[in-house]
Amino acid sequence: MKQVIRISCAIFCCLFIVACGQNGAKPSEPAPQKKPTPVVKEEKPPVQLGTDLNPETLQIPVLMYHSINTHVKNNLIIPPNEFDRQMKWLADNGYHTVTLAELDGLLKTGKNVPDKPVAITFDDGYQDNYTQAYPILKKYGLKANIFVITDKIAKNNHFDEAALKEMSAYGIEMDSHTVHHQELNQLSYEEQLKELTDSKAFLERLTGKKVNSICYPVGRYNEDTIRAAEATGYAMGFTTESGKANKKDGMYTLPRIRMVPGMSMESALK
Ligand SMILES: [Zn+2]
Repeated sequence: MKQVIRISCAIFCCLFIVACGQNGAKPSEPAPQKKPTPVVKEEKPPVQLGTDLNPETLQIPVLMYHSINTHVKNNLIIPPNEFDRQMKWLADNGYHTVTLAELDGLLKTGKNVPDKPVAITFDDGYQDNYTQAYPILKKYGLKANIFVITDKIAKNNHFDEAALKEMSAYGIEMDSHTVHHQELNQLSYEEQLKELTDSKAFLERLTGKKVNSICYPVGRYNEDTIRAAEATGYAMGFTTESGKANKKDGMYTLPRIRMVPGMSMESALK
């Protein structure tokens, strides 16, 4: 019997000690929280829509239009139905229009060049760019730039500020064709600088978007023009000389392809 009591006591003591030990133990430290596995954001490569090409040899056609109108009085005016056919041809034949802001990057880097790139430009800012060309560009989902003479906005047959803002908001880029459309090579450096600065500032204020390009009125320019364009913050200057744009031409003396009535797009892009 004594033996039983002794064993019972021993068991009791053991249990007591264990219980005490548990009570006396420090409250268990909160288990160290597992650091959440950092979500590794996969660096997505930039969307590659095109091909990387050698910028030294890359040539991109920049089409030069003026007026799109049924009253064809001179070779600067293309009838709307002809313009429509040309735009449809571009869309049907796998051409990709790029804006001049995009062209700047493409010519300088040769990176991500879409298949069959082409830029569409209009000089002077005629009202029919808004009433005739703009609906056709929208119909085929094509990009374009307009070189605006800022002093002519809403005067004679030039579109007004509301039309300019609407087209800009849609994605048609507005660029400078100076304030007064004077032949720049006839002006002093300071006068040229003013034409380039004022037109750029005016358009940027109106659209809230950067103006990247200048197109020289009547294609006239000199060394001062190029210096002034660079000093004013333009990325590119366009002439009326004929050819496809390539950075070797100089980013401030880029040629274009003059579109005249009766000209097929196929022959223009050859
Ligand atoms: Zn002009």
